Amino acid sequence: MGVNSTSQNMQANEPQFWVCTHCATYLQSGSEECDNCGQSLDVSVLEATYQYSRYVVYYGHQYRKYYEGLRGQENKARPSLAFIGDAFAWLGMAVLSGIVGGVSYDVLKTVFIRMRDQARKNAKYDHGCQQLAEMTESEFEEFFSNIYDAHTGFANIPNEVRADILEEITADAVSEDPIIAHQIGKLVLREDPKPRHKKRALELYRMALDKKLAMRKPKANVLTKFWAGIDKS
Ligand SMILES: [Zn+2]
Repeated sequence: MGVNSTSQNMQANEPQFWVCTHCATYLQSGSEECDNCGQSLDVSVLEATYQYSRYVVYYGHQYRKYYEGLRGQENKARPSLAFIGDAFAWLGMAVLSGIVGGVSYDVLKTVFIRMRDQARKNAKYDHGCQQLAEMTESEFEEFFSNIYDAHTGFANIPNEVRADILEEITADAVSEDPIIAHQIGKLVLREDPKPRHKKRALELYRMALDKKLAMRKPKANVLTKFWAGIDKS
């Protein structure tokens, strides 16, 4: 079985295990072909889709749920959430194959159930498997619609929650860009900041946010071919 127990590497955002895009079998990272169906893996497609999926799952599902729970409150705690785990990055990839690639919802449900079965077997290794093991079909529907809203520019989200999510993305975007972070730091830490310094700092925040929002999206013609072997698994 593919899931291993290495510790989560949050910085590098490397997947801790892989999934076969043909039959949805969990695989050891670095596998050249699927243990179950023999399909060879397109590593570049897998990794690029993983990065995007992780982004929509993290901000569009995890942070959304967090901030939906705090609606109307003042002085909200703004923790840096630990990523929910690769089981959800791969489930997000399945959802994206429906949203972007046009894979039918019936197929997605089969993929969800197949991934959940494997999560149950691998719950002791975690990487999100414990939570996925417990996920109901109606929670999967909610997950689907959260990923959809995130993919379509955080649409259909209440304004307050959207603002909270964008604030998180901005803060992360700045912390991931040392040059912009340094420039903003110099501007906001001046002893006597002038309006033009504040304006420039805001421009830099906006630049960092735009860069992150413009993250490369997976291509439809790739995702549309996913899960062709799901019935045979
Ligand atoms: Zn396979």
